[in-house]
Amino acid sequence: MKLLYGGPIMLIMLGMMISGCCQNSNKESAALVSAPETPGKFKMEPLDYPFASLEPHIDARTMQIHYEKHHAGYTKNLNNAIKGTALESKSIEEILGEISKQSAAVRNNGGGYYNHNLFWKNLSPNGSEKPGANLEISKAIDAAFGNFYKFKKEFTAAAATRFGSGWAWLILDEKGKLAISSTPNQDNPLMDLAEKKGIPLLAIDVWEHAYYLQYQNRRPDYISAFFNVINWEEVNRRYLTAKN
Ligand code: MN
Repeated sequence: MKLLYGGPIMLIMLGMMISGCCQNSNKESAALVSAPETPGKFKMEPLDYPFASLEPHIDARTMQIHYEKHHAGYTKNLNNAIKGTALESKSIEEILGEISKQSAAVRNNGGGYYNHNLFWKNLSPNGSEKPGANLEISKAIDAAFGNFYKFKKEFTAAAATRFGSGWAWLILDEKGKLAISSTPNQDNPLMDLAEKKGIPLLAIDVWEHAYYLQYQNRRPDYISAFFNVINWEEVNRRYLTAKN
């Protein structure tokens, strides 16, 4: 009797363990939204989380339009602008580093392509306001800005006061220090014509297309919501790579 009973129960439990294990590992490793088709050299990366997974902070519809229409548009237009030119053999970082020599189409769409790739990676459904105290970026922020909340205040101000469309950044500057900056349109700190140059670690998109459906004119509310979904593990990874 014990054996007859024990057998199926053990099998069910084993089954639950196996399916539990595999669902979790899929969640960690699988890309959840595949990238739109963008013929040409530069490809978008898949999105690591579903569109709705950043709610209530960033809504699914904004995420979908932003990723599938805006980002895909920049990528397609960049590919068209460089087609048949010497730029096809260069990395996006190389192109941005000498952007002052290029057309407005390459500047706007090359920036748009790079900036959004970074932006999606900077976000996570498992994100948090602050980096974990054990992360190097946490110590570096404290050293550069005094404490996390002084950093947050300065970053928020840069994002809120950028006139019109653009981005705010946490960068590792040319002297190897953390700094905050903002850029108009799709410019970024890798561009040779940027006011403050450096390697981007964290970016917030403050174009209206990034928040208008949910927040309308309330950009400060969107910036505050962004601070619930920051992928600090990724910012830390970028910081360690940039420093070395
Ligand atoms: Mn955008």
